[in-house]
Amino acid sequence: MNQAVLILIKPDGLKKSLTGNILTRLSETKLEIVAAKMVRVSRQLAEEHYKHLKDKPFFEDLIKYIQGELHDRRKVMALIYWGKDAIRKCRELAGATNPEEAEATTIRGSYGRITTSGVYENVIHVSSNEAEAEREIKLWFNPDEIIVDLYPQKEIVEKEYKRKAWT
Ligand code: UDP
Ligand code: MG
Repeated sequence: MNQAVLILIKPDGLKKSLTGNILTRLSETKLEIVAAKMVRVSRQLAEEHYKHLKDKPFFEDLIKYIQGELHDRRKVMALIYWGKDAIRKCRELAGATNPEEAEATTIRGSYGRITTSGVYENVIHVSSNEAEAEREIKLWFNPDEIIVDLYPQKEIVEKEYKRKAWT
């Protein structure tokens, strides 16, 4: 069954120059990349993305981590992979959440670490099921940034919508 999955290369992955390695590893899945962009993560986006962890003691550090404040890299790379069993394939390559428990050959096992404050710096985010993938993809991307139609969408006309344009 074809699925979409949100992948984030987290600020530690960018700081350690792992983008190429991670994309090469993910290419083993033979999945299709249907969207990709660099994102400056607002506090609002970070909190919404991790809202299911709001009560955890590491929540505040996690928000700082995904916003890049721990790595002086205020950005993440967001991608959507699409294809058969996309979630299982990407999570297998990512490895366990705790990088010390992740198999050594996985992305997190190879490149992750636990900070002294206890946050798992595990280099990438991968949605863990279809419902989560849909919620996250709708949070991180607009329909016109994705080259396939993943979910039902509508056309809207926005008046007085302020955006940047080339001079
Ligand atoms: N995390 C952490 N400590 C924990 C559990 C999670 O620092 O005990 C962080 C880690 O960066 C993880 C993120 O919170 O990737 C989201 O946690 P989740 O349980 O969703 O794990 P994932 O789906 O990323 O494997
Ligand atoms: Mg998760």
